[in-house]
Amino acid sequence: MSVTTTPALLSAELVRLGAAPADKEATIRQAAQLLIAAGCIDPGYEASMLRREAVANTFLGHGVVIPHGLGEDRNLVRRNGIAVLQIPRGVEWNPGQTAHIAVAIAAQSDAHIAILRRLTRLIQDESRLVSLFVTDNAQDIVAALSDDAPAAASSGPATDLAERFRWTVSYPSGLHARPAARWVETARGFSARIQVRNGDQVADAKNLVSLLQLGLRAGDVAMLSAEGRDAAAALAKLRSVVESLSAQEKRDAELAAQRAAAPSSGWTPPQAKAAIVGIGASPGLAIGIVHRLASHDAEVPDHPVPLTEGGAQLHEAITATRLQLKAVADDTARRLGAADAAIFKAHGELLADTDLITLTCQLMVEGHGVAWSWNQAVERMAGKLSALGNAVLAGRAADLRDVGRRVLANIDPSLRQVATGELPDNSILVAADLSPSDTATLDPERVAGIATAQGGPTSHTAILARTLGLPALVAGGAALLDLKQGSAAIIDGQNGRLYLNPSPADLDSARAWIAEQQTIRAREAEQRAMPAQTTDGHRVEVSANINLPDQAALALSQGAEGVGLMRTEFLFLERGSTPSEDEQYETYKAMAQALEGRPLIVRALDIGGDKQVAHLELPREENPFLGVRGARLLLRRPDLMEPQLRALYRAAKDGARLSIMFPMITSVSEVIALRQTCERIRAELDAPALALGIMIEVPAAAIQADALAQHVDFFSIGTNDLTQYTLAIDRQNPELAAEADSLHPAVLRLIRQTVAGAERHGRWVGVCGGLAGDAFGAALLAGLGVSELSMTPRDIPAVKARLRASTLSELRELAERALKAETAADVRKLDLAAEPSS
Ligand code: PEP
Ligand code: MG
Repeated sequence: MSVTTTPALLSAELVRLGAAPADKEATIRQAAQLLIAAGCIDPGYEASMLRREAVANTFLGHGVVIPHGLGEDRNLVRRNGIAVLQIPRGVEWNPGQTAHIAVAIAAQSDAHIAILRRLTRLIQDESRLVSLFVTDNAQDIVAALSDDAPAAASSGPATDLAERFRWTVSYPSGLHARPAARWVETARGFSARIQVRNGDQVADAKNLVSLLQLGLRAGDVAMLSAEGRDAAAALAKLRSVVESLSAQEKRDAELAAQRAAAPSSGWTPPQAKAAIVGIGASPGLAIGIVHRLASHDAEVPDHPVPLTEGGAQLHEAITATRLQLKAVADDTARRLGAADAAIFKAHGELLADTDLITLTCQLMVEGHGVAWSWNQAVERMAGKLSALGNAVLAGRAADLRDVGRRVLANIDPSLRQVATGELPDNSILVAADLSPSDTATLDPERVAGIATAQGGPTSHTAILARTLGLPALVAGGAALLDLKQGSAAIIDGQNGRLYLNPSPADLDSARAWIAEQQTIRAREAEQRAMPAQTTDGHRVEVSANINLPDQAALALSQGAEGVGLMRTEFLFLERGSTPSEDEQYETYKAMAQALEGRPLIVRALDIGGDKQVAHLELPREENPFLGVRGARLLLRRPDLMEPQLRALYRAAKDGARLSIMFPMITSVSEVIALRQTCERIRAELDAPALALGIMIEVPAAAIQADALAQHVDFFSIGTNDLTQYTLAIDRQNPELAAEADSLHPAVLRLIRQTVAGAERHGRWVGVCGGLAGDAFGAALLAGLGVSELSMTPRDIPAVKARLRASTLSELRELAERALKAETAADVRKLDLAAEPSS
């Protein structure tokens, strides 16, 4: 990344040559005065810079120091800037460390890393650096520091700002990362300085780590205050967000409590005594074998590289991780739901922590390798969080380590820790802690349960285990880690117990209990497995949106009749590199095999818009949603499209039952060009012909559906994008989220038009956007003539039940009324009016 220094960030006025401060404190004060005089910081920031020295060392190495304020005082930074004090005779910073150049930083978090990068580069150039210690031309220093820039920092007294309100924490689990990330997101929408105070600790409301460090627990009184042009509006908005999250937090806690309680409905072993007693985190009983996972803090080798290289590597790894986390959040939202996805959104915020980046750079300057330095910095900070004796903060240590591992894998792919790969069947995973990333990607078919030494029932890992329906116990203690690999065990996730080497009587009893539970579940599954057939016999296909073969089992168990959307871009997004044709072939083949002959619709790469792939280094676009995305990119990049098509046709030739679908189609000419490529590749491989479909995601395609239908075998409507482009609402804009309603009559009319166009040429129409997974939306779509609905697996049972409760004519009538409605709200009202016949 190159951040261009603006003249205001470092100019000759901000450089003092020939300074001779008596000591470290005088150095910081003089540098702070320069920043104050330039209007970069409030005077209070000076004290914050001094306070930071008491808790952290800002000596970067090679005679360079980087004093800056505490993260929580960032609100005292008026604008980005850096001030430089040249100290030819040097000043003792710490025993044995002499500073000749003090670079005082006032900057935003992202800018901080750019400045450090520039400095590490400079340090590498020893002769230039030494010349700066004595130069009498301030421009030399300005030039040396002026490629990369911006900065951040703060200082902060425990006083409140002008506008304020008091709030008693009503979140039963305290202010943890998910709600805190929402606060941060809201606060960042305003220019006002916004802070949160807990006792005499103050945090910047725009910085997640700072907020979490307040350790706010239920019942604590927080003071939220703001200052600046839009302070009142900011606080009003923040207040509504803070309060509105309360209901959800309480619901989550109640649910967790209900699940944790009711041991009476649980299982009691006839003979065994529990070997491990922890806390029940996800209910259920399972028999399996202990599979201990290697500790995550496995050795990270220390391979020093030139600093210039190291700085760039770190920066790229952090940028790539940010994009991957966005992709994981996106994928988790589509598979497990928005609440679980918020975990990974919050993880992204942890990457913006300047302390973490500073510490890493210091270690690099000391001569350590990038990966080692990053790992150390993460471990030290996570250790600090765990040591504070606050359960909320201890839970965040696991999050920090999780993010840390992702960055590590991006610095050096050989450090990618596939902690959960290659599991034996029926594993009871035993680990010190399990990261949310690992948990989200577990295959519930192979894993019987999870037992961790650390963690809490509200940890993200526990939340994800519940979503996946895996029994889990947490806080089992260190003894858990001494268990013998491969021991037979019974895990009781309801009561948080692990029984080792159970007797035949215990096993029988456990099997009987599990069988009883399975009968109950089978009854539920039966309902899910039944076809979505209306009472008058009209059948709608119901499929799942999944991306990986190991997600198929869960989808089928929810009642999926196939896969209606396999988003292949996730194969590219999450791994940080482009999968080869062979790797793709294996994946598509495995997916088809996992579906055992059921239909599979694979969507060709849909990159661009909200799905940016860092390693492809595509040109930056002003407006990526209206840019080269989906089919437009495929047509411009045969190097991406053709290996994918070859992999698909090869899989088809090997018997995979699949169809190919192209995203973001706008015109007939695109379809013709894509078909030609498919046909050429098919002929080259002598593969069977495949059904080729397109997504209807832009109004142009819906309006011209009759023309497009002549050239394709099927349509699948992407209501997420169709809504975005019809209503001109960015699908990622939280402010407009409520208005981006796919039930808007304009969207419904375009769907109607699509169906009519397809019918004219005997084509079928599916829907794979979010509306398909909404029970009422599904009913409307069936009434509009859609014949296939594809959705997140967990939405399938409710959708099927809704469709099975009506006649087709009722659904058609419902659709007719919806088409005539004036607003989305009027359409919603029909939901209440239209009670299905029973
Ligand atoms: C859609 O746009 O509705 C869709 C299914 O595609 P995606 O969400 O992947 O853009
Ligand atoms: Mg789309």
